[in-house]
Amino acid sequence: MKKHTLTFVFTFILFNFSCLTACDSNNNKEVIADTEDICDEYELQDQDYPCLTNLPVEALSDEEESGILFMREEEKLARDVYLYFYELYPLPVFTNISKSEQRHTDAIKNLIDRYELKDPVAEDIPGVFIDKKLQSLYDELIKSGSVDRVSALKAGALIEETDILDLEELSKSVDNQDITMVYKNLLRGSHNHLKAFVNVLKINGVEYEPLLLSKEKFDSIVL
Ligand code: ZN
Ligand code: ZN
Repeated sequence: MKKHTLTFVFTFILFNFSCLTACDSNNNKEVIADTEDICDEYELQDQDYPCLTNLPVEALSDEEESGILFMREEEKLARDVYLYFYELYPLPVFTNISKSEQRHTDAIKNLIDRYELKDPVAEDIPGVFIDKKLQSLYDELIKSGSVDRVSALKAGALIEETDILDLEELSKSVDNQDITMVYKNLLRGSHNHLKAFVNVLKINGVEYEPLLLSKEKFDSIVL
């Protein structure tokens, strides 16, 4: 499941993504504007989380457990990549969304605490992951996004596509109310982030084409 999505991502990065970036005539165009406000439109509200305490701690299946541990690091990956890109290209979209990803990985940490699981991010070192596939994905995204600003924005959109698919896939094996609530909020955030990256790319004359989502699904999210 998650491995499939990651395999797709690697394939696209290795064979398509670099080509798309290299072939893009707008590649060197200056990023002239950003969408600072878009990021907050449907953003997670901190008050969404205290209500977790009103939901029961239910029996945890193996799938639910592995999903929580995976998402804890996947949300961290998004945060780390955007912080890295913000150092290279100080666009508000990167710093705004990195803060949101911090809240996402914190939300998963709440679940880890509730179910007394071992936190894979116990030692929070940027760019370092327990999950080897996520480590490779991070390394590839940093490499591909370091070409220029547009390639970094495209890497951002690809991360959000990956998050959306993983959250949808993991949600299928979840029946605990608290996990369902957190995943729904994270998914809502990812939709919003994808829209933000697509809009910033559009402002720069780049029409982002989805690499993982179907065109129909992509349009339903960003239009
Ligand atoms: Zn997220
Ligand atoms: Zn996101």
